[in-house]
Amino acid sequence: MRQCLTSDLGGYYTRQATSETDQFGAAGDFVTSPEISQIFGELIGIWFVAEWISQGKRSSGAYLMEVGPGRGTLMDDILRTIRNFSPFAAAIETVYLVEASARLRRAQHELLCGDHPLEHIDIGYGSRAKHNPSLNIVWTEDVQSVPKFENETPFIIAHEFFDALPIHVFQSRAPALQEGSPAESEASASQAAVSQSTRTTNQHQWRELMVSPKPPHRLSPGEAEFELSLSRAATPHSMYLPETSSRYKALRSATEATIEISPESQAYVRDFAERIGGSTQTKTSGMERSMQGRGSPVSSRQETQTSQKTTPSGAALIIDYGPAASIPSNSLRGIRSHARVSPFDSPGATDVSADVDFLALAETAIDSSPGVEVHGPVDQARFLTAMGIESRAAQLVKQAVDEERAGSTTDDCTQLTELAKRIERGWRRLVDTSPQGMGRLYQVMAILPYHGATDLHQRRRPAGFGGDVKA
Ligand code: SAH
Repeated sequence: MRQCLTSDLGGYYTRQATSETDQFGAAGDFVTSPEISQIFGELIGIWFVAEWISQGKRSSGAYLMEVGPGRGTLMDDILRTIRNFSPFAAAIETVYLVEASARLRRAQHELLCGDHPLEHIDIGYGSRAKHNPSLNIVWTEDVQSVPKFENETPFIIAHEFFDALPIHVFQSRAPALQEGSPAESEASASQAAVSQSTRTTNQHQWRELMVSPKPPHRLSPGEAEFELSLSRAATPHSMYLPETSSRYKALRSATEATIEISPESQAYVRDFAERIGGSTQTKTSGMERSMQGRGSPVSSRQETQTSQKTTPSGAALIIDYGPAASIPSNSLRGIRSHARVSPFDSPGATDVSADVDFLALAETAIDSSPGVEVHGPVDQARFLTAMGIESRAAQLVKQAVDEERAGSTTDDCTQLTELAKRIERGWRRLVDTSPQGMGRLYQVMAILPYHGATDLHQRRRPAGFGGDVKA
């Protein structure tokens, strides 16, 4: 997935442009929510404002961060919206955009910065917002390059980003299958050692599904050259990753259970959680270190601390497709020209993605930082409806009608009906809850500062997740 999507050598997002069109829209491969309706980004902007209000309206030290901003449409809609809330807009000092693609970075720069030049800076590129030259816009290629300043307040958005991060796929094998089946009789010495250990424990074992070239005798013309095949023995990843959560361990004894794990997604979400709530790293003070060096017992004062952050603050919103509670399985897919194709079809020219494991992200966030709590996931229809999508659509239609009345010609009248129809079609598509509708397939999850209440009724509920704005 990494090679196919972001490799310098012709990755789907990073390859040199070969045509005028990019990946998005009718002429591209897929359409995303911000490209369907401006209301999507507006409501996310409002959600950030609501969080900022609930967290005490700090007047400075905030930043926005978006991972995988595409054409920049979502950030453009967010920035336009929060300009209406000037104390919040004034608190935001920088917008960080994490983007692997040079072409999309250029598109984002054009949309967000207008005539302000794009300049090389130590961590990537920098420019200024078109409507507000005092707002810095900074691009990096990965999240680690975005500075983590002590006690700053991050507002983070990841829309259709996690589905592009690489997964590992594992399948559970029954003990008998591990040894007896003819396909596995050619095990090497190290593989034999692994099956020796399983013979004694008589347990199921995770195997990894690997991408491998199809053998020439099975390769028919026009077919994908790669396929998934089951490793013949445990791999370093299969011995480690499925042991990292009780959710995976519980499935090991279910023969042929297949699970997908995305360590890179977990690394991103850990970063978000630490930015909001500080980290759970065990820090050893200089004195304790020197005592240990002289052979003294490890000091009892060594403790788990919240590093860097004294007061948790900020918010992360993750919107993507994937099951709300179960572990994704067999979800690796290719998308080309709006159709589902084999993920092995035309590597580098096909979008490759996988379902997002929301509970794995939630678990990672909570394990990474003592200062965060997680809300959701809830489906996109519920979130956008609670955020007021219908009233905002009605307001946009009315605005268009009023403008048309003010300077009317008959031509404008037909255009207006078109515009009203587009607004209507757009928002309805985002909250469509039919089986393949975006309102049902997409989930929304939030990472917020830990609020402290253990009693469910006392827990603060954020806007869009059953709660309201609380000042
Ligand atoms: N959020 C946008 C675009 C989604 S497409 C929208 O909703 O319209 C995925 C985006 O993530 C693209 O901008 C792509 O270039 C970027 N991307 C994919 N993998 C990445 C990676 N590993 N690191 C940084 N950016 C990545």
